[in-house]
Amino acid sequence: MALKDIIGQQKAIGMLVGAMQRNRVANAYLFAGESGIGKKTAAVNFAKALNCLTNAAADGVLPSGDHAAHQAVIELSHDACDACESCRKIDSGTHPDVLFISPEDRQVRIDEIRKIDEALSFRPFEGSQKIVIVDNAEAMNISAANAFLKTLEEPPPDSVIILVSSKPDYLPDTIRSRCSTITFVSLSLSSCKKIIAEKVAEENLELVARLSMGNPGAAIVRDMLEEREWFLKLLKSMLKAEKDSWASREEMERWCELILILLRDIAVVKITGEPSRLINIDQLDYILELGNSHDVSVIIYCYMEIDTIRRSLHYNRNKSLTWNYIASLLRKELGLWHA
Ligand SMILES: [Zn+2]
Repeated sequence: MALKDIIGQQKAIGMLVGAMQRNRVANAYLFAGESGIGKKTAAVNFAKALNCLTNAAADGVLPSGDHAAHQAVIELSHDACDACESCRKIDSGTHPDVLFISPEDRQVRIDEIRKIDEALSFRPFEGSQKIVIVDNAEAMNISAANAFLKTLEEPPPDSVIILVSSKPDYLPDTIRSRCSTITFVSLSLSSCKKIIAEKVAEENLELVARLSMGNPGAAIVRDMLEEREWFLKLLKSMLKAEKDSWASREEMERWCELILILLRDIAVVKITGEPSRLINIDQLDYILELGNSHDVSVIIYCYMEIDTIRRSLHYNRNKSLTWNYIASLLRKELGLWHA
């Protein structure tokens, strides 16, 4: 894979290729956007493009005169060839000049930042650039962030640091302001379908692409249909006043995301009357039934309440209190809801 193969992120990729063309690659980037939309893939392929051995060779042989040939070489010389030793090593995670850091136990600790400093303290070994990719960079704890700030303030030459984050707001301003931010966008339904087509059975493609909400990566690593069934089962047990059934904070987060999608669907079909706009496109009857006797404002109120809860989950909210609160909210505001 190369930068040109990344689907639906033309603007972000265009900025990266443009920086390479103008020889203005920044020392630090923040790749920001929802999870599962290609940020990490872009970071890896940017690292490949910067260190590609075929590029380096092509750079020296720009033909003159023929504009089209010139352009073709320029394009080739600012992307990964995907075949040279450097590209292959980066893909397999064995390139000595490319370091990947990702959080352990939801935290990037100061030890990891020390690894970055150590890696950057040497000149590139095989490639032309030392590259550090920090995945889920928002998981840096305070001491890691402070140490990292020093690295960003005095970036070593021939080095590029790429922070990848789906929650860039959680990063300190001091770090964000020292990075060039490249924003990745959620993908269109058709781009999602294109990306997941190989992984998902044809008959489920439409529904799974919709459930992925523009983040095809999620549909590749998780079974969206199984997850949605799990959500509906828990919703029913919640409305029957059963005890909380979330096994972890991750499950709480995901369940809240899915109830928000369902509430969004109920509101959308009430407002527009167009079932084609649904995410849960296979649940039209249930959605019509749920929304039947309620005003849109009540549904929006429930949505906003649960969204506030979802946003505060990282403060370690109590699981069963949260469960009971959402249950009573849904039963009180949307009284007709029952299993
Ligand atoms: Zn290459």
